[in-house]
Amino acid sequence: MAEWSTTWTWFDGAWHEGNPPIMGPRTHAAWLGSSVFDGARAFEGVTPDLDLHCQRVNDSAVALGLKATKSVGEMMELTSEGLGKFGPGTPVYIKPMYWAEGDGIGTIAGDPETTRFCLCLFEAAIAPKDASMSVTLSPFRRPTMECMPVNAKAGCLYPNNARAIVEAKARGFDNAIVLDMLGNVAELTTSNVFMAKDGVVHTPAPNGTFLNGITRQRIIGLLRKSGVEVVERTLSYREFQEADEIFSTGNYNKVVPINRIETRDLQPGPFAARARELYWEFAHG
Ligand code: PMP
Repeated sequence: MAEWSTTWTWFDGAWHEGNPPIMGPRTHAAWLGSSVFDGARAFEGVTPDLDLHCQRVNDSAVALGLKATKSVGEMMELTSEGLGKFGPGTPVYIKPMYWAEGDGIGTIAGDPETTRFCLCLFEAAIAPKDASMSVTLSPFRRPTMECMPVNAKAGCLYPNNARAIVEAKARGFDNAIVLDMLGNVAELTTSNVFMAKDGVVHTPAPNGTFLNGITRQRIIGLLRKSGVEVVERTLSYREFQEADEIFSTGNYNKVVPINRIETRDLQPGPFAARARELYWEFAHG
């Protein structure tokens, strides 16, 4: 059996500790993957952009053909209540989820009228300030909207990301740069990706194939406000291989520099450090 860090889940009107059963063998989501989720963070007593993450899970639900049954305000109140069960300052992953319980059209669609909700909070350390990771080019690609529901943060998108990170780890890398179907850089398997060249920061322009991360958008705004030029455009893998600096952004660990791309070592650079510093200032502000 898996071991769980301290976990509290609001489900069916009550808080449950540990890993309560929320699905059965007839649950549509357990069978056919009709689930969406979002991930926000509590750390050092703050929950930056929690409202945006709650709004996004509602948007994801609708995009996947489910019903958004909880308001952003209700989710935020529940989060605040649930965080009270953890020690002050505990780093917590905040995961609201929706899924279909019953079968819908053609059985393969979930029935939106049976949408269920839970809010799962669990203790999860955030990467330390000096963390960094290596990346390689993934042989796998991000799907387009024609292939997968990329407009939702849906569980069904993650087995593709999972095989990409597993393949990268097997070759000795921590993560992988994943291209879109046109061969341009999309993101990492778990977060968005930025690079710097000659004093300018660049990141792939959202083209619908990857998550336009809430942390990504926040960091772009903070860097620009501080006077840094940030360009969102089409980027090739080669540009990353020749970059002065590469870093990732995502809710889980916020900003993490890349220390190696293929065989080329990189130093954690000043833009990643600045982005992290600005994010922490914003989070505590
Ligand atoms: N891409 C993927 C595949 C992710 O799983 C995440 C984490 N949610 C991100 C990007 C970053 O998005 P955000 O900043 O909204 O967490």
